[in-house]
Amino acid sequence: MSASASAAAPAPPAAPALRVTRAGVTIDGTRILQDVSFEASPGEVVALIGPNGAGKSTLLSVVTGDQAVTEGTVEIDGRALGAWSLRELGRRRAVLLQQNGVFFPFTVREVVEMGRAPWQRTPREADDEAVVAESIELTGMQRFRERPLPSLSGGERARASLARILAQQTGILLLDEPTAALDLRHQEDVLRIARDRARAGDCVVVVLHDLSLAAAYADRIVLIAGGRVVTDGSPDEVLTAPLLSEVYELPVEVMRHPVTGTALVLPQRHDASPILIPADSLEETT
Ligand code: ADP
Ligand code: MG
Repeated sequence: MSASASAAAPAPPAAPALRVTRAGVTIDGTRILQDVSFEASPGEVVALIGPNGAGKSTLLSVVTGDQAVTEGTVEIDGRALGAWSLRELGRRRAVLLQQNGVFFPFTVREVVEMGRAPWQRTPREADDEAVVAESIELTGMQRFRERPLPSLSGGERARASLARILAQQTGILLLDEPTAALDLRHQEDVLRIARDRARAGDCVVVVLHDLSLAAAYADRIVLIAGGRVVTDGSPDEVLTAPLLSEVYELPVEVMRHPVTGTALVLPQRHDASPILIPADSLEETT
């Protein structure tokens, strides 16, 4: 190590892009989130998993500011969420909602162009056309470009919405079940896009139900149940059969992909005891 390097003070750790600290949400007297702490940093894909009604979408809406916390704090880049203007937020984070409400007869291109709104009257407006084209291509929506949204299938509409938030070119992507309506290939495409964006330095938080998909693409998994964080760790730490069986209230088995070694999570569909075939019955059939 050179003298100058050893003399240099270590760089302070960068603030996480997102930080939720001891957040609670109570709506009409019902506790929906309780004591939730959560962080996500640039360069990471963080998957939020958990049963239906666990509080995943609520946590995401707390991060977007659509749902106020009744306890705790939310920060983006180390700054309280409430101190950000809507326009600033629009340039910093993009949100793909679980229910995307755009049903007006806009074309796919028009919807994707809406993603550029936060960059209006900035120098980056000059990139609009190229970014819109690139986002449509990345999501495989070229042949639907001029089609009105109501004429699309659910999966095509979901990809149009994804193209819109990619066009927003924000460093933070918040995706609520982006793969829910998609076929196998397009699920992989979405997660690959998410991973590529993280490798380029973005912070990606994605709600997923497919645990094998989460295992394959997430750097970190946060398991939520009953409005609380149950575990937060690497896919191998979080995706264990006893823990998932308990949280999902279903016997689950976790296997290893024979080539990649990543976890494959399946409901246990066989009898727990091994099936024994009597030797004489085998002889009879041969
Ligand atoms: P998830 O996305 O994990 O399936 P949600 O965050 O959407 O779960 O919801 C968590 C729980 O909070 C659910 O039981 C849901 O019914 C409830 N909930 C969400 N929003 C409201 C609301 N505005 N009023 C009352 N209950 C709500
Ligand atoms: Mg949800």
